[in-house]
Amino acid sequence: MKTLKTQVAIIGAGPSGLLLGQLLHNAGIDTLILERQPPDYVLGRIRAGVLEQGMVELLRQAGVGQRMDAEGLVHTGFELALDGRRVHIDLQALTGGKTVTIYGQTEVTRDLMAARRDAGAQTIYEAGNVIPHGMKTAEPFVTFDKDGETYRLDCDYIAGCDGFHGVARQSIPADCLKVFERVYPFGWLGILADTPPVHEELVYARHERGFALCSMRSPTRTRYYLQVPAQDKVEDWSDQRFWDELKSRLPTALAASLVTGPSIEKSIAPLRSFVVEPMQYGRMFLVGDAAHIVPPTGAKGLNLAASDVSTLFNILLKVYREGRMDLLEKYSEVCLRRVWKAERFSWWMTSMLHRFDEHDAFSQRISESELAYFLDSEAGRKTIAENYVGLPYEAIE
Ligand SMILES: Cc1cc2nc3c(=O)[nH]c(=O)nc-3n(C[C@H](O)[C@H](O)[C@H](O)COP(=O)(O)OP(=O)(O)OC[C@H]3O[C@@H](n4cnc5c(N)ncnc54)[C@H](O)[C@@H]3O)c2cc1C
Repeated sequence: MKTLKTQVAIIGAGPSGLLLGQLLHNAGIDTLILERQPPDYVLGRIRAGVLEQGMVELLRQAGVGQRMDAEGLVHTGFELALDGRRVHIDLQALTGGKTVTIYGQTEVTRDLMAARRDAGAQTIYEAGNVIPHGMKTAEPFVTFDKDGETYRLDCDYIAGCDGFHGVARQSIPADCLKVFERVYPFGWLGILADTPPVHEELVYARHERGFALCSMRSPTRTRYYLQVPAQDKVEDWSDQRFWDELKSRLPTALAASLVTGPSIEKSIAPLRSFVVEPMQYGRMFLVGDAAHIVPPTGAKGLNLAASDVSTLFNILLKVYREGRMDLLEKYSEVCLRRVWKAERFSWWMTSMLHRFDEHDAFSQRISESELAYFLDSEAGRKTIAENYVGLPYEAIE
């Protein structure tokens, strides 16, 4: 077995692993990233696109903000459409100047990959059978296979940035973790198309036929979503059926101005709320989707990954520079305070905007009335806005 050594072994080269790797590398802390897939596969995944201000600032801090600043679309608000009624949420006015930036996760990943390559920091792609060991000891290590050889990577700490289906969380004994989960009885069918956006801001539409979201990646590329039954297959949805259904769920004026075109990607994502506690086991830390999942309605998944990265980075910085070993045990509790608030907001947005077939007529009216109450009051709109732009990151002291 060949032996390698690094300070922080990172499992997974998604946005969490790459961003953590970049921040640590810039701070002079050695990292090695192990990724199961080839780079093209990682870049081919079409996922999130709304970046909170905290994440935008963190990307700038990591030195990868140039293209985002040049090409990202700064949005000062979004719209809610409720069975024909349109309500504008003025993020900037309601939050004292905060905004969100539309810049695809694929582009964030591409920028981070390029920065890592330029910095000469190592990522081993197509690493098989990655397994963390000795997490409860002062000498943890990770084993993996590459090109027919087995390697042992010795390290000080392991960051499990390997997503919901990764190995890090699954390597923690089940009786050391508490799982909180809710699976929703529907999914989101998403398509990507090279068409101009139907509206300059995102539109979240609640309709008796189900939820719809009009989103975008650039002035010429759109991302639209429809709530569909959990058991639906992509093959059930021709482009034409998708566009017809989307039009039926949008206010008339918007539907009339919708430009349609061939889809360049089409997929169905299940909706799930999931949190595991604690987010650490000895010297291994769970980051991003490895520890929690939110339904995408609040645009929080990628942004939560970024706030976990910020917390772990700031703790490790103080550990290496100031010997603050006491901070290590704080990682989970700091992250979870913010994670649960984002879980609540994502659950609330999902509950308010989707059609729940199992709801009786009374529950239906209560939910309509709750949403109307929030939208008709400035305090309610403020609450939505401050959650949407992202709650502040906790300082590590
Ligand atoms: C279909 C879909 C749509 C989404 N849409 C939105 C959205 O609109 N808005 C939003 O905010 N969020 C969205 N999300 C969530 C968002 O994309 C995630 O929160 C984000 O990708 C989390 O980043 P991560 O780095 O923690 O995990 P991931 O992006 O999952 O990265 C984990 C990485 O680890 C690698 N890996 C896994 N197992 C191993 C292993 N055993 N060994 C080595 N490497 C491994 C994986 O290949 C992957 O590259 C969506 C997610 C999905 C799946």
